[in-house]
Amino acid sequence: MKTAKAIRQEFLDFFESKGHQIVASAPVVNQNDPTLMFINSGMAQFKDYFLGNQESPSPRIADTQKCLRVSGKHNDLEDVGRDSYHQTLFEMLGNWSFGDYFKQEAIDWAWELLTERYGIDPERLYITVFAGDEADNLPADEEAEKMWEKWVPKDRILRFDRKDNFWEMGDQGPCGPCAEIHIDLRSEEERAAKDGKELVNMDDPMVIEIWNLVFMQFNRMADGKLVPLKNKHIDTGMGLERLCMVLQNKTSNYTTDLFSPIIEKIEALSGFEYKDDYSPKALSDIAMRVIADHVRAVALVIADGQLPSNTGAGYVVRRVLRRAVRYYFSFLNRQDPMIHLLVPVVSEMFKEVFPELAAQEDFICKMVKSEEEAFLRTLANGLKRIEQLEVKNNELPGETAFELFDTFGFPIDLSLLIAKEKGWTVDLKGFEAALAEQKKRSQADAAKDVADWVILEEGQTDFVGYEKDSCQSRLLKYRKVV
Ligand code: ATP
Ligand code: MG
Ligand code: MG
Ligand code: MG
Repeated sequence: MKTAKAIRQEFLDFFESKGHQIVASAPVVNQNDPTLMFINSGMAQFKDYFLGNQESPSPRIADTQKCLRVSGKHNDLEDVGRDSYHQTLFEMLGNWSFGDYFKQEAIDWAWELLTERYGIDPERLYITVFAGDEADNLPADEEAEKMWEKWVPKDRILRFDRKDNFWEMGDQGPCGPCAEIHIDLRSEEERAAKDGKELVNMDDPMVIEIWNLVFMQFNRMADGKLVPLKNKHIDTGMGLERLCMVLQNKTSNYTTDLFSPIIEKIEALSGFEYKDDYSPKALSDIAMRVIADHVRAVALVIADGQLPSNTGAGYVVRRVLRRAVRYYFSFLNRQDPMIHLLVPVVSEMFKEVFPELAAQEDFICKMVKSEEEAFLRTLANGLKRIEQLEVKNNELPGETAFELFDTFGFPIDLSLLIAKEKGWTVDLKGFEAALAEQKKRSQADAAKDVADWVILEEGQTDFVGYEKDSCQSRLLKYRKVV
């Protein structure tokens, strides 16, 4: 079996042989851009090259980029655990041309790498191209379509609209059509049974997008008009975990060697066996996937300098970590901290490609452990409170949801989850009213300690450091920004 390490290296070697400079992943915590908390795609670190604000060190670049999709436009958090191919943190392999090669090379090289080097069966590959858009007066991307026809029969090249096949950085700036490569991972029997009778259903969970090739050829002006770019660019992204699933003949990212050591450790710690079951009832399997995913995210984000806290990016990390705790607490019957015991496994796996994690392993373990301990205490108290509740008409009152939030640090989504398990609804209007009331009150306070899990308004508070004796969340000190 080809290891993830070999697969990653083969990608980089291939593009190096095509004249690309190989660069390191940018930190996943984004320091330079107030519009983006975490890097969520390979191109993010090269934004200024596309915008022309900065010159690229080489016209051709390739890398593997740590990406996190838990906030903003790309938020895959809720898919994690439920499907086999969305992570919060994943590696995006990419190759770029800054005003250098364009569609022809990008397409031909992608095909060469996937079919000749990696040896993927070409018959399983489907291509999507841009179908055109009336509002922008854009025709379909026949140019790309023709180029693909050299490699792929016409009936496996499908046209999709702007939602899937037109990429824009924002309201303004470089943009263009894209072509995506999808793979049909259904079994031989299933494919044979349907062969010739119907086109593949691109929404089938076994038909998976693996690589996105963006052809940046327009500039969106302030008035919304598109103008052709003088220098055209290539921006591609392929998920390493999905590629490993394909090349290791698996049907899930979680059974590749990028996850199996973590899952094995979770099995050992919990006594549950992982069956790679995706039914909504397979709670321990869902929990294992969530935990395996979240520990990678939390460990790498902390390694890149973002500690859990109650605001901004720190709050996102805290939320992800607590989500993992909640899953082992509820579905793996575990009341002791567990995530920190998985950090060394993750650290070992990434020691060559992301050495910043191994370098800070002890610190990260301690930090994660104390977060876990604090939240487990809160969780136990809150759950005790829920068990004592007398709920009328199967509805959790807004006031109670607020009490859980305010006193026990339960975010509303956690209360919703628990309520759902119990067959209750939650009075969200009442919750919001109580929250608004509290905000009014807290505005009157100049400075105060905050509860465990409080959703603070952006800009409302400013992190000023930990109390000396602990990194427990309850002891965080905040200063009000006026
Ligand atoms: P999907 O439609 O599956 O959510 P996407 O269209 O959002 O993927 P892109 O933004 O095109 O993904 O990113 C490029 C590639 O990165 C994808 O083709 C896929 O291989 C990978 N990728 C995207 N999101 C994830 C994720 N949450 N986990 C793992 N890999 C991902
Ligand atoms: Mg997506
Ligand atoms: Mg997609
Ligand atoms: Mg895509």
